[in-house]
Amino acid sequence: MHTCRNCKRTFSSELELELHRDNCAAGELFCDACGERFAESEATDDGWHFHCPNPDCDGATIGENIHRVEDVRLEAP
Ligand SMILES: [Zn+2]
Ligand SMILES: [Zn+2]
Repeated sequence: MHTCRNCKRTFSSELELELHRDNCAAGELFCDACGERFAESEATDDGWHFHCPNPDCDGATIGENIHRVEDVRLEAP
């Protein structure tokens, strides 16, 4: 059983989980320092200051280490 860390949905195969992660509404931000993907609510307390929720990573700030998955998709060729 594979569980999406963001929304806690479970999938029977890793492939299904991978496909889901691309569309998961709960994983709308990612950190380019560690590659972690997470929900906005995990990364900020006040909606203004963002930091990576990964305890081993010091990535922070929208536009620096933290990016919106949507924006990155739009910029992709
Ligand atoms: Zn999910
Ligand atoms: Zn990070």
